[in-house]
This record gives sequence, structure tokens and C-alpha cells, in this order.
Amino acid sequence: MSSHKHTIVIVGYGGMGSYHTHLIEENGRLEVAGTFDLLEERRSASEAAGYTAYASYEDVLADPKVGTILIATPNDVHKEIALAAFRAGKHVICEKPVAMSSEEFIEMTQAAESAGRVLMVHQNRRWDEDFRVIKEMYDHGTIGSLFQLESRVHGANGIPGDWRHVKAQGGGMLLDWGVHLLDQLLFMIDSKVASVSSNLSFILGNEVDDGFEAILQFENGVKAIVEVGTTNFITLPRWYVKGTEGTGVIEDWSLTGRIVTRNQESEKLEPTPIRAGVGLTKTMAPPSEGATITEALPPAAELASSFYTNFADVIEGTAEPIVKNPEVLRVLKLIEAIFAAAETNQTIKDFDLY
Ligand code: NAD
Repeated sequence: MSSHKHTIVIVGYGGMGSYHTHLIEENGRLEVAGTFDLLEERRSASEAAGYTAYASYEDVLADPKVGTILIATPNDVHKEIALAAFRAGKHVICEKPVAMSSEEFIEMTQAAESAGRVLMVHQNRRWDEDFRVIKEMYDHGTIGSLFQLESRVHGANGIPGDWRHVKAQGGGMLLDWGVHLLDQLLFMIDSKVASVSSNLSFILGNEVDDGFEAILQFENGVKAIVEVGTTNFITLPRWYVKGTEGTGVIEDWSLTGRIVTRNQESEKLEPTPIRAGVGLTKTMAPPSEGATITEALPPAAELASSFYTNFADVIEGTAEPIVKNPEVLRVLKLIEAIFAAAETNQTIKDFDLY
């Protein structure tokens, strides 16, 4: 492990750019050498927070003490900023979605490779605790073999900010939250996506989607429903998962949730019919007493290190990236298939993510 800290300049000192400064400061291996933003007001905000604000991107690239560029601008300019960084011999951390298309991303990875520099995408939600609890359940069969996963985020604030409304800048929810939720699923499920169907919502009247629903069928039989909504005044649980031996629910990011499993000790009894609405049902009657066990969620699966520590190890050549570029490419191709499925109203089967 190197004794000196790796210096980073954050390009795009907006919401996420300023958040990165806090995260990087918490990590002893990296330090923020400054920021660059096109807007004067954001450069002043950077100075006020104690970070040098470079006057131009050329100045950043010309500074030999800068080893890494962290890109936290709107999505449409990630590629050009990254390509210039590689030409100047810098490493790159890039916010998600790393590019506007899989084609753009391939160009970026090729440029990184020719320059012999690292390109790592900030798929930070692989470290989210709610996701890692589900990963633990998936990997270790806590509720049997998981065969259906429903991953949702619901808000009621519409699409926030400005560029997120603009198609040409990579706006819309599929390219925003969608990237995270799909990345989590493909990272966890070690099986190819066999088919995709989807629909996008345009309830708010923007040119970009304000939400979407996608159904992914994996070759190993797992089905995933992914949903993002921005007009949900009552939210559905963040995760609802079904296994062969039980069901799990995680309501929110505070990890309110539970698992309910079949009690193997209990004698299998016919359910007693109940009145349901104006009818009678045995099928939908609650399980007989003692037939199920309710337990707390399992502890979250661990990842080898934090994103930033892993990045420091990768540029020092001592570790493999946890976020690998072929995985990022797969997610971009999946997003393209989801857009195509929504546009054509077809289930897409013949696509190649791999
Ligand atoms: P934002 O609008 O708050 O900030 C973007 C900043 O970039 C603005 O200050 C803008 O002036 C600046 N900018 C625009 N073009 C520039 C250029 N060419 N050079 C330098 N600066 C430029 O946006 P945000 O919410 O911070 O999003 C930025 C990126 O971070 C997006 O890619 C977004 O998807 C991503 N993001 C990731 C997460 C996450 O959890 N990983 C969360 C939020 C946003």
C-alpha cells in the first residue's frame, strides 16, 4: 500500500460532486486536490468549502500533481471529459451512468486501455446495506432458493433538478435510479438475462421517462421486477423477495423488514377457510398457527472493501476492481434493451449482453 495519498480533482461540483468530497475525506488513501465546475457559483462554493477551484479543465489536466479525475457532471459530457483525462495520463472515476450508450462506453474503455490508465465507474449502490441483505439471502438460501425479486424505489417528488428532464443530457429515471437497480441485480445473479419486457411512464409530461417497470427473466429461472416511480405518494417496499422456503420484505433504507419461512417442524394442516370480501377462500387464508416462523433480516453480505479503497488498490495494482467494466457494459446494454422493449411493446429475447 502506497504511503502517499492519491490526488483527485472532482469535475462537476454539484450535488454528487460535493458529496464525493466528504466520502473521499473519510478515506485515508485519497485526497481532493480541488474541483472544476463550469459555473462561477459552483467554483465559489468549492472555495468556500476549502477546495481549490481550478479556472479551467485544461488547468486541471496540466497539473502534474493530479492523478485522478472524478467525473460528476451531467451524463452527456462524461465521455469527452474522460477521453481528455486519459490523453493527459490521468485515471478516471466516473459517475453512473458512465455514458449515454454502450457504444460510448466502449470508446471510453478502449481509451483507458491504450493510455494504460484505470477507468472505474461509481456503482456505489452495490454497497447499500438493503441490497447486501438481499445478496446474503440470495447467496446463502436464507429463505430457500430465491425465484422472484421485486426491487423498487418510489418517490413523490417528480424528476428533480434541471438536466434530468432533458433527453440529450441523459435525463430520465431509467438512466438514473434504473442504472443502480439493474447493476445490483446483474452483480448478484450469476445467470444470463434471457428476456426483457418493460414500460416507461411519462405521467409528468416530460420528454424523458419519470419512471419505468421492467421484468427480467434470467436463464436460471429467476424473475426480477424492477420499478422506479416518482409519483408514488404511498410507497411499496424497497424489496419483496420470494424463495422456495419463505418470503422476505425490506420496507426502506432503515432496513425495516422481516423474513417469514415455512416451519419445518410443523405438521402440514389444511388451511381453514376464511371469509374474504363477500366470498370464502381456503387458498388465501393465513397459514395455520405455528406453520410459519417470522424472523429478523439476516446480516448484510460483506464486500471486500469500500469503493474508494478498492480504487486506490486498483491503481496501485494490488487488487481487481469490484466494479468491473464488462459488468458496467452489460448494464448499459440491458438498459438499451429495456428502452427497445418499451418502444416496441415487445418482449426482447435476442439481445447480447455478454
Ligand atoms: P448536478 O446538476 O447537481 O451537478 C452537476 C454539476 O456539473 C453542475 O454544478 C454543473 O455546473 C457541472 N457541469 C456541467 N457540465 C460541466 C462540464 N463540462 N465541466 C465541469 N462541470 C460541469 O448533478 P448531480 O446530481 O450531482 O449529478 C452528477 C452526476 O452524478 C450524474 O452523472 C448523476 O447521474 C450522478 N449521480 C450519482 C449518484 C450516485 O449515488 N452514484 C447520485 C446522484 C447523482
